[in-house]
Amino acid sequence: MSALKKRQKEAGLCTQGCGRPLHTKWRCVECAQKLRKKSRDKQKKHLEKGLCTNGCGRPLHTKWYCVECTQKQRRYAKDRNRSLEGWAKMISASQKSKRGTALSPETIMSAWLKQGGKCALLGVPLVLGETASVDHIVAHSKGGASDDANIRIVHKAVNTAKSAMTDSEFAALVRKLIPWAVAQPGTNEAA
Ligand SMILES: [Zn+2]
Ligand SMILES: [Zn+2]
Repeated sequence: MSALKKRQKEAGLCTQGCGRPLHTKWRCVECAQKLRKKSRDKQKKHLEKGLCTNGCGRPLHTKWYCVECTQKQRRYAKDRNRSLEGWAKMISASQKSKRGTALSPETIMSAWLKQGGKCALLGVPLVLGETASVDHIVAHSKGGASDDANIRIVHKAVNTAKSAMTDSEFAALVRKLIPWAVAQPGTNEAA
């Protein structure tokens, strides 16, 4: 950022130098619109030619990007989801879009720290962005709140298996399953 732009921003003015007041972080209403349109037009032009919308000049692979840019973005998302804050924000956003749940990243982070990164039901250490998942102790579908008292971190596989069961229902199921599974080894394993 240039010194001029910094001064403009500090004065509450659009950094495009149009003299209008800031609306977004850097721009006034008009300049923000103009630049958005410009970048949309650019994207459209790339798409028409079958090129990556990042402007790298490579052919499209997914809907918007080439192979390389897709990989780069995936790597970026993966790294981000491995940090506690990035992961918590990702979970919070996906719960909000999937179920409209207001589960704050702070609640998720505090549960993780309280548990020392271990599964609340198995006691094993979890990996952010891989095996860690957020569990409502009283299921969300049964009216469980998304607050500190009802949120914990459990292994993804356990979370899927437990579904909307209570802990005692789930434990009863597992107690039934174990002797049965032990008595019939290998029934579901590849030969
Ligand atoms: Zn402006
Ligand atoms: Zn690209």
